[in-house]
Amino acid sequence: MNIGFIGLGAMGAPMAERVVKAGYPVFTTFHKRREPADALAALGACVLSTAEEVARAADVVITILPADAELHETVLGAHGLAEGFSQGKVLIDMTTATAMSLLQAERALSAVGGRVLDAPVSGGTTAAAQGTLTIMVGGDPALLEECRPLLATMGTRIVHVGPLGQGKVVKMVNQMLAATHLLAIGEAFALGVRCGAEPATLYSVIKESSGYSKMMDLRLQGFLLSGSFLPGFKLDLMKKDVNLALDSARAQGVPLLLTSAVAQLFTAASTAGNGSADFSAAAQLVADMAGVDLSRAGGVKPATRTVST
Ligand code: NAD
Repeated sequence: MNIGFIGLGAMGAPMAERVVKAGYPVFTTFHKRREPADALAALGACVLSTAEEVARAADVVITILPADAELHETVLGAHGLAEGFSQGKVLIDMTTATAMSLLQAERALSAVGGRVLDAPVSGGTTAAAQGTLTIMVGGDPALLEECRPLLATMGTRIVHVGPLGQGKVVKMVNQMLAATHLLAIGEAFALGVRCGAEPATLYSVIKESSGYSKMMDLRLQGFLLSGSFLPGFKLDLMKKDVNLALDSARAQGVPLLLTSAVAQLFTAASTAGNGSADFSAAAQLVADMAGVDLSRAGGVKPATRTVST
């Protein structure tokens, strides 16, 4: 089975590497920077010029792109996947995007007999490198079973969550919670520090208490408590994810009071120059408002500082 892989970023590059190392013939292309494609070629992948060529060469094409606009361009743009698709070929889209954009792609591909699975991921770059991602799959369960061995090269928890588009929905809800938990940690820890608590003490106690969130394990040590904001997961991608939720809420007529505030804080953090930093920089921005630097012993005050990568 020939595999196409498009989107060799922080997530896609290690995921594609695992697919190559599992022995699948892999065809890829490049976008702006050639280096990630060349690195994959050094492991045995074949680099082609366009998404259309990748679709012609592959039986199954995997995409993991930033968001809706890039998915649209890659599938429906000039020399996009749709131009190389034909009967029986499969697209597995792993992008965190809206269900709407995926369904639009599916309409174009199914018109020529193509099939589509929706398969966003959770777990971050470490899980991508280790092949331990959670993969939330929407679409035909029989098609998932056909593709399961391929997905198993990238993830250990492969969950069928419903029809096409439902993977995007589950991922969107996860991202709303992850972003909200992160900023709540920034705000609550800043108050604790202003009241004299040590961030490490707060963490060790709350880890076993009702205020605990897994986000503490993911973003305190190594990021907020060490003052290091190398991504990781880029802040602008989380800003995008929170806005996907607001777009969906608008379409459904659902109020999102907390998520609206969270979106504004991510916009502020991005505008302050942290868009390419890890998304945990937004929690430090919230702590900055309280004059607290979470990375300094005792959270030493004050002046708002700029977080840089
Ligand atoms: P990234 O920005 O590092 O990588 C995106 C890649 O897509 C880049 O290599 C870029 O060159 C490529 N690309 C963009 N437009 C393209 C096009 N038109 N044709 C071909 N390639 C194109 O992003 P990432 O961190 O790898 O995230 C990818 C997706 O996975 C996003 O939807 C993100 O929300 C999601 N995600 C990321 C993480 C994480 O921890 N980084 C975790 C889970 C899910």
